[in-house]
Amino acid sequence: NKTLWVLGAGQLGNMLQHAAYPLGVKVNPIDIDAAKPPVLDDNDVVTAEREEWPKTPVTDVLSSHNNFANQDFFATIADRYLQKSLLDKLGLATAPWQLVKSDDTEAKIFQNLGERVLLKRRKGGYDGRGQHWLTQAKNSTIPDDWHENAIAEQGIKFDEEVSLIGVRDQNGQCYFYPLTLNLHQNGILTASISPLDRLKPLQATAEAMLTKLMDAVEYVGVMAMECFHVNDELLINEIAPRVHNSGHWTQAGSNISQFESHVRCVTGLPMIQPSVRNTNFMINLIGTELDKDWLSVEGSELFWYQKSVREGRKVGHINFSKTGEKNIQIALEQIEPMLPSQYKETINWLKAELL
Ligand code: ATP
Ligand code: MG
Ligand code: MG
Repeated sequence: NKTLWVLGAGQLGNMLQHAAYPLGVKVNPIDIDAAKPPVLDDNDVVTAEREEWPKTPVTDVLSSHNNFANQDFFATIADRYLQKSLLDKLGLATAPWQLVKSDDTEAKIFQNLGERVLLKRRKGGYDGRGQHWLTQAKNSTIPDDWHENAIAEQGIKFDEEVSLIGVRDQNGQCYFYPLTLNLHQNGILTASISPLDRLKPLQATAEAMLTKLMDAVEYVGVMAMECFHVNDELLINEIAPRVHNSGHWTQAGSNISQFESHVRCVTGLPMIQPSVRNTNFMINLIGTELDKDWLSVEGSELFWYQKSVREGRKVGHINFSKTGEKNIQIALEQIEPMLPSQYKETINWLKAELL
């Protein structure tokens, strides 16, 4: 009986383990800083919950295993320069961009990309960290040491942000969840909704884009594609070679969650088209203490990550799977006073989209 090892022991690894239990699959998330690396069987399988990792005794052992799913692809995704280059090569639309070269000036970058430009560190950024706005009107400057270590992207005035969670099995068959509408506040995901009728016309285009990418790299498992929706078009923002925060709603809204889909595909179990029920929405819990009252809200499904709480840190999420505006409204009104005041905007966004 093979074990699935996860490089990284954060919430994604834990949720993979949680989803695999009913399938009879043993999942072992491993902290990359653990003192003693595990001993793997030849027929075990390895996956990762993060796109990059430092060299440690644990990552050495896991990343060199023969059955590390999508092994070679991580390095491409972990470096935004390589990731964007791949998207360009495949003709997949992304925000116009360039590498910040050693001799590039602010003026040169504004000339190439316009007056609002977002600099992103090539490596290590998440939840909006490692980003720096360059705005002509504010005379902002390129931070020291960002030359060659960052890309510059045109600031996109998008209508909204959507994402697609795709799954590719070992036979090359692709499966998709319906598009998800996402709200980011200060660069960090705060809420998601899926499915939404008005996103249906974009579904086929989005699936074709992600299929092209997954096929090109012979991907196996779950991949997420974050997009900007601008004037009926989709521009890819970034790709994640793993289960993704914007797919957490599938735990409540699908017979097969994104975590189960990933486990099925990387371990070679049969995969079927996930079936999605109801209207689903997810609220991320960011920098806030656990409140047991959340459990009293009609239909709430809490997932608490058991991490220490720090400002700006994702420490849990709550899923809702509901039918009917009345039921959605009741849930939103019950949860609102139980969340910190900065969630007012989040709840208002959910109300505007759902009611
Ligand atoms: P994640 O936690 O999703 O991995 P990240 O730190 O890798 O986030 P991005 O997804 O690249 O960062 O950017 C975070 C958010 O910043 C986006 O969801 C979007 O709201 C905003 N953003 C990113 N790129 C642009 C852009 N070119 N123009 C306008 N807004 C942008
Ligand atoms: Mg990212
Ligand atoms: Mg992102």
